[in-house]
Amino acid sequence: MAHRTEALFRDDAYVRAADATVVAINERGGIILDRTIFYATSGGQPGDTGTLERADGSRIAIAATITGETKDEIIHVPAPEQPAPEVGERVKLAIDWERRHLLMRMHAACHLLTVVCPFPITGAAVSEDDSRVDFDAPDAGFTREDVTAGLMELVRADHPIFVRLITDEELAANPGLVKSKNVRPPAGTGKIRLVCIGDNASIDSQPCGGTHVKSTGEVGEIHIGKIEKKGRENRRFRIRFGPMPVA
Ligand SMILES: [Zn+2]
Repeated sequence: MAHRTEALFRDDAYVRAADATVVAINERGGIILDRTIFYATSGGQPGDTGTLERADGSRIAIAATITGETKDEIIHVPAPEQPAPEVGERVKLAIDWERRHLLMRMHAACHLLTVVCPFPITGAAVSEDDSRVDFDAPDAGFTREDVTAGLMELVRADHPIFVRLITDEELAANPGLVKSKNVRPPAGTGKIRLVCIGDNASIDSQPCGGTHVKSTGEVGEIHIGKIEKKGRENRRFRIRFGPMPVA
């Protein structure tokens, strides 16, 4: 039976520590808690790493976080040779915040890229130093410089980034909200999580379950490292932190 883990990061991506109770250990040693601040790998964003601190002060290192039988079951995968906690045990959770914050900045940067390049998305992957977004786009004459300038304009404007919940019906009435070509947001759960950019979502809104920084300014300086041709109708854009290196 799949468990339903309360995902604290959905309401507040900035929670770095919390308490929880162990509800199960799966056959591979994965730890399932009643609630968590660890984001589980999905939507192109890698899961969190961190520690579970036991009552005696010792720590269980968590090497990865994944979903289980359902998207609501979050499994904390211990690093090799960690002690297993008991079901019912209380633990203190701490995520590797430095890494998560980089992922939040990068993930938000990917949203900004979809504003600058408004084409259907065919894939995306976020990592702490490099991210990519694939677009269904023919050669539109983009240069790294143009796209970087567009991204940095959004960063400098320091637009708010926030979450709004809408119903399946509202989403059905606004099909333009979905930019992803292959991935449809889950329907039938009653509520869709929209990630909005700008006052009243004036810049962008799209369904997303990931974690993001709270303003475009917090993304910081980014640039397009590369634009690769992945087929006649497909372009892969790579985003990196920092200023564009001088050639
Ligand atoms: Zn997102």
